[in-house]
Amino acid sequence: MQSTDDVLVSYNPANGDEIGRVRMTSCQELDRIVADARAAYRDSGWQSLLPHKRALILHAVADGLTAEKESLAKLQMRDNGKPMGECLGMVDSAVGTFRYYAGVCETLETDVTPSRGDYVSFTVLEPYGVVAAITPWNSPLMNDATKVAPALAAGNAVILKPSEDSPLLAPELMRIAREAGLPQGQLQVVQGRGADIGAALVEHPDVRMVSFTGGTVAGRVIGRTAGERLIPAALELGGKSPHVVFADADREHAIAAVVAGIFGSAGQSCVAGSRVFIQHDIYDEVLERIVERASALRVDFPDVDGVEMGPLSSLHHRRRVIDFVDRARTEGGRILCGGQIPDDPRFAAGAFYLPTVIDGLSPRSRTCQEEAFGPVLVALPFDDEIDLVEKANDTDFGLACGIWTENFKKAWRIGRALDAGSVWINTYKQSVTSTPFGGFKDSGIGREKGIDGLRLYAQVKSLYLGLHEQPMKIAK
Ligand code: NDP
Repeated sequence: MQSTDDVLVSYNPANGDEIGRVRMTSCQELDRIVADARAAYRDSGWQSLLPHKRALILHAVADGLTAEKESLAKLQMRDNGKPMGECLGMVDSAVGTFRYYAGVCETLETDVTPSRGDYVSFTVLEPYGVVAAITPWNSPLMNDATKVAPALAAGNAVILKPSEDSPLLAPELMRIAREAGLPQGQLQVVQGRGADIGAALVEHPDVRMVSFTGGTVAGRVIGRTAGERLIPAALELGGKSPHVVFADADREHAIAAVVAGIFGSAGQSCVAGSRVFIQHDIYDEVLERIVERASALRVDFPDVDGVEMGPLSSLHHRRRVIDFVDRARTEGGRILCGGQIPDDPRFAAGAFYLPTVIDGLSPRSRTCQEEAFGPVLVALPFDDEIDLVEKANDTDFGLACGIWTENFKKAWRIGRALDAGSVWINTYKQSVTSTPFGGFKDSGIGREKGIDGLRLYAQVKSLYLGLHEQPMKIAK
């Protein structure tokens, strides 16, 4: 993405072609958009619509996404370079999310609480009003849906701010939602740089809740502003997830999962298993097989049949990955494969980078501590459970982890001991809308998905209904 003062230009990272332009939202426009969202929240009737009718419209959004699955997937593929198969999966995921929250919206029950006097007390959920949803570039439609569907289901008006690096999907979602019958103003999109329009959105006095997915640095800034303003902030942030292979693991499955867990989406996934911990006795053998597989991965254009890894999302993001690997070299890392741009001239204009595996580093090195958000795996040996837990938890992050062992009791112990919001035992990177997702430590605050993914966008109100037979007296 390059930009002039008020236009964002999106380039296909596979070949450098321009694929679209969007106008950046000015601060004056932001005021109008927030005012429209407030008006929609107050007057459109969306929040008072009976839940099963609101659910019908959410289902209609899912139908609209399904009808345009192919073209939406292609748009994402061109916008951020992910292989077409993955992009089709992302549309399916967005469809599933809208259907799931249609279901939750229709069936969610609130509580009648036990009485301690002459009254009945119960709780209801109220929307916040105008919610800001800020999303990153790696899986735009899927991340947008994870926020927009539950926030709408809870009755809010939503202002969606996509990344300046993937601005093309959010307007499509807004259009499809309008065509599905969502009232005007209930879902709007603002475009521009995070530090400008994103920050202005979070600071806007009429925005009453913010839901953010992105890096820890921006997450901290947003959390600080939300704290000052005393509005809730849900933060889904980065990771440096450990993927653990014990000596008793099913090696075939473990090695395949380690490779898929880091090189899927070219490593541009918050839950990428970017640190592989291999037990000492099998370290050399397993690492050699991982390197063999990584070197054989088919890096190609994202629309080619059989592609396993496409380009990175932009040339400037590739620059960050190149710098990351250069620093690993200066820290003393051994580059076992990759560590460079492919030399095939077909890829010259794209943001391609080879799958990279590094070892020989201290677990405290910056390479092992910081997120590359690219196809870079660091390998680390461990002796036993105690050594593993100490090393794997010795990071600021706590998003996810993978554990490979045939011993279930050990898997349980390690799964409980590691700092991670999601633990995958003998599998990796599974994600389902019905299961909560979020991070420990610097990987975030709050949980998206699941039934509580709707409660995230609602505030609890308690009501008391008097049943007094006698006039009330002042308590003595
Ligand atoms: P960023 O944090 O840079 O940006 C995320 C979004 O926030 C973008 O829309 C960005 O806009 C916006 N933004 C940036 N700064 C501010 C600010 N001060 N105020 C308001 N909005 C702001 O992350 P990336 O887009 O580079 O995404 C990569 C990061 O996202 C990685 O760390 C990754 O781990 C994390 N991530 C986490 C996930 C999770 O669920 N835990 C899922 C996917 C990614 P703009 O791009 O226009 O600057």
